[in-house]
Amino acid sequence: MDHPRPPTSESRHAHDLIIARPEGLYCPPGDFYIDPWRPVDRAVITHAHSDHARFGHAHYLCAEPGRGVLLARLPGIQLDTLPYGERITHHGVTLSLHPAGHVLGSAQVRLEFGGQVWVASGDYKLESDGTCDPFEPVPCDTFITESTFGLPIYRWPPQAALMAEVFHWWQANAQAGRASIVYAYTFGKAQRILHGLLRHAGDDGLPGPVIAHGALTTLNAAYAEAGVALPPIMLATELPPRSPLLRQALVVAPPSAQRSPWLRRFGDASDAFASGWMQLRCTRRRRGVDRGFALSDHADWPGLLKAIEATGAGRVIVTHGNVPVMVRYLSERGWQAQAFDTEYGDDESARADEQAKPAAASEDAAP
Ligand SMILES: [Zn+2]
Ligand SMILES: [Zn+2]
Repeated sequence: MDHPRPPTSESRHAHDLIIARPEGLYCPPGDFYIDPWRPVDRAVITHAHSDHARFGHAHYLCAEPGRGVLLARLPGIQLDTLPYGERITHHGVTLSLHPAGHVLGSAQVRLEFGGQVWVASGDYKLESDGTCDPFEPVPCDTFITESTFGLPIYRWPPQAALMAEVFHWWQANAQAGRASIVYAYTFGKAQRILHGLLRHAGDDGLPGPVIAHGALTTLNAAYAEAGVALPPIMLATELPPRSPLLRQALVVAPPSAQRSPWLRRFGDASDAFASGWMQLRCTRRRRGVDRGFALSDHADWPGLLKAIEATGAGRVIVTHGNVPVMVRYLSERGWQAQAFDTEYGDDESARADEQAKPAAASEDAAP
């Protein structure tokens, strides 16, 4: 970036469009919150991951393509939706939502008021994956970014290469008469793998049947309803216990299903974990799986920097992940950078999935 702005004065801070409050990120002139973690009256939701979208708010607003998945996770909420790019005005603040490329319906929140433009990005990823609208850079004065993988060591292989890797692992297992079990976060990651494998297979077809754990059913349906192409998906119970097809299957399951009795039917299977953390050999070992696929729904280090630069913002506020590293890196290069203390977590870890409802382990109890 060529012309970083000089540090802002105290008076400008007094007019910040988004501030951190105990309830969440708050827009004072608009009197609403973005992804609040405590119950509030008005909540704008960037995406339906459980640390960003919680029960308890009186009114919700999200991007139109996110309606199905948000209602699947938070049934019964009072929800309004807004098509990407459409502007509304609330207490004089102009608000619009723009694709974040993270999961289905994920949005960056653009706010304009008093001659300033702020963008709160939620979680985002730059590479398009076919399961949601691709990330759109939105010019702004102040950009609020995540930094989940904000360390220079995180650099993702192209997604086509990763899908080819998963596909060939499955193919080799199927030929050897071994099921392939891949643990993936139930919302976003699982559907992305299913869509990516279908795309990779093309006319040649898949090496075997696709079996999804029951915890994925509602979200798979929401993706299919939104027009995302998924392969035919079976429940494990649809095949007889000794069916040879079980040994050729790709099984997608939440991380919480690891070591559960539900897995017994697949016999001596090969297993893998799909997450950005798999780029580190130590995490792979700790998970105790045969393979790790470094498939992330978040921007890697070059992606974060590219996204930040593309906004043209002079001021950047970092919300979660490797916050001090990113703040220091940006400050040293002329940005006015700071952190917000938030309660957003890590939606690529196993723990995040276990916290996710509804009852990820519902099928685990089945014999
Ligand atoms: Zn997320
Ligand atoms: Zn997040």
